[in-house]
Amino acid sequence: MADVVTMEKIVSLARRRGFVFPSSEIYGGLGSAYDYGHYGVLLKENVKARWLEAMVREREDIVALDSSIILHPRVWEVSGHVEGFHDPLVDCRTCKLRFRADQLDQAQCGRKPSKRPGETPDCDLTEPRLFNLMFKTRIGPVEETGLDAYLRPETAQGIFVNFKNVAQLARRKPPFGIAQIGKAFRNEVTTGHFIFRTLEFEQMEMEYFVPPAEARKWFEYWVEERLSWYTRLGIRESHLRVREHAPEELAHYSQATSDIEYLYPIGWSELEGVAHRGDYDLRAHSEASGTKLEWVDTESGERYTPHVVEPAAGVNRSMLAFMVDAYDEEVVAERPRTVLRLHPQIAPVKVAVLPLIPRNEDISARARALYEELRRAVAAEYDDSGQIGRRYRRQDEIGTPWALTIDEQTLEDDTVTIRDRDSLAQERIPIAGARQAVLDRLAQDWKTPKPD
Ligand code: ATP
Repeated sequence: MADVVTMEKIVSLARRRGFVFPSSEIYGGLGSAYDYGHYGVLLKENVKARWLEAMVREREDIVALDSSIILHPRVWEVSGHVEGFHDPLVDCRTCKLRFRADQLDQAQCGRKPSKRPGETPDCDLTEPRLFNLMFKTRIGPVEETGLDAYLRPETAQGIFVNFKNVAQLARRKPPFGIAQIGKAFRNEVTTGHFIFRTLEFEQMEMEYFVPPAEARKWFEYWVEERLSWYTRLGIRESHLRVREHAPEELAHYSQATSDIEYLYPIGWSELEGVAHRGDYDLRAHSEASGTKLEWVDTESGERYTPHVVEPAAGVNRSMLAFMVDAYDEEVVAERPRTVLRLHPQIAPVKVAVLPLIPRNEDISARARALYEELRRAVAAEYDDSGQIGRRYRRQDEIGTPWALTIDEQTLEDDTVTIRDRDSLAQERIPIAGARQAVLDRLAQDWKTPKPD
């Protein structure tokens, strides 16, 4: 069965259900910036929580960090970003559009969208020019005397410059890692494709510091580990692949990089990059700052600059992949149904409590009491507006895995129905065990019913 999902359907569902809005919409939107509504925030928070769990809570060898967005400007000179963080761009003198020179094969000609830029006789492309992706700002109120600064284009540098603080205080020995989630900013010229590429986004980055001889082994380990994080959270294996960068593609700091790619509706595209950064960053910052960023074994006296393996994921791109992978349509009882088959651990709301006859005060009171009990344990929602079928559909579209319905029978025998989002099976269970039933289901392994 062909996958029904398209980017337009995701954008429309995200808008309709309040996951994501165009930013500054009342002024016409910005095209490359988005705002996240209630369910978008909950979904994004779940992605981050699962990442932090897998990186920090479930492991002993990784600690957390939250560094500044604005760092000392020297950091970006020394890291190589001022010199080397460029995209090659070409302009078309005819249609006045700007394209990434390395992505012309994915771009559309401004006059004839069925052609690539440069393919029609009217196209008049300039030579590629380098364009720095960092957003510049100034620290200090006076323009002339202020200090040039940058909004960070990656969270990683905040980790490297804190290496000494963290390594000493965390009392960890390589291999050990430092994990950070935070905003990053890039003055991307070719935006579009919804939240796939935006000016402002969130990264989940972990720098894993290892003895140099072990770097390749850990690089391979982290590619596998990150791939399995996505599949454990329900993404279909058939829609994930690993692509190793060719030498000419490598970033200025990288010895090897493998992208974990997802089959988005726009085609295979990077979801996460795993890079072997060698000792590039620690060595450069040691030399420039005079602070030795190295590992010293206090017992043996051994000292060396660790090598770094970095899995760098995007929160927003992950959220998009989870939504795309989960999106499904089917016909149930002759009516179309749209459903987000999200892994329950990722779903914004875990359970909805629905009184079948809201006007019945006894039913409402039981439903409210159940909702109050549930929301202390999990993200729960109470909905008593509209026909029950419409309420189910609303929950299906936001990906709520279970709905508990309270009806007249509840008043007689203290049972409720629990409806499963994917199978649509309904089961009667005692109301007293409803909370535990949801928690038990949430703890189980989950596999998408969508075909590969
Ligand atoms: P691309 O080639 O798509 O521009 P990149 O290789 O420059 O990405 P990295 O520097 O490896 O990206 O950043 C790590 C992750 O951060 C990416 O895999 C992606 O998930 C996310 N990311 C990077 N740039 C953006 C952006 N402009 N908008 C949203 N997410 C981004």
